[in-house]
Amino acid sequence: MNDYRDVHNIKEYLRSKGINPSLQRIKIYQYLMEHRTHPTVEDIHADLVSEIPTLSKTTVYSTLNLFVSHGIVSKLMIEDGEVRYDINTKPHGHFKCIRCGRIFDIEISPSIFEDISVNGHHPMEYHFYIIGICKDCMEKGRDKFAA
Ligand SMILES: [Zn+2]
Ligand SMILES: [Zn+2]
Repeated sequence: MNDYRDVHNIKEYLRSKGINPSLQRIKIYQYLMEHRTHPTVEDIHADLVSEIPTLSKTTVYSTLNLFVSHGIVSKLMIEDGEVRYDINTKPHGHFKCIRCGRIFDIEISPSIFEDISVNGHHPMEYHFYIIGICKDCMEKGRDKFAA
């Protein structure tokens, strides 16, 4: 089981991956499940600190790195210096909105990478992303226009 959508019991899931399921780890994993816009450490910390006042940014950061090293979360870097976290570890593409800054998952066919020549280099990861304006922001733009 490697798809986050199949995870019904986070505690059991983390344990099955060899991770000690502390409350903070469970909450962070749950947050990633519920917030599918690829949050940063700051986003996660800001949203969870009211619920878990003892939570530090360092804990959020080290928990995410632990998840990454166990292959249950992946790191996403679209812009310089901005690291985001993705619970979807299956191959997929991303769409980044330049207005609201959210990043959405998009379906891509794995064959999209087949024709790429890597010139004899050895590829290990492929990243595919599109930058544009998301449908929510397009919608808002239209409203403003109409009013
Ligand atoms: Zn947007
Ligand atoms: Zn994603």
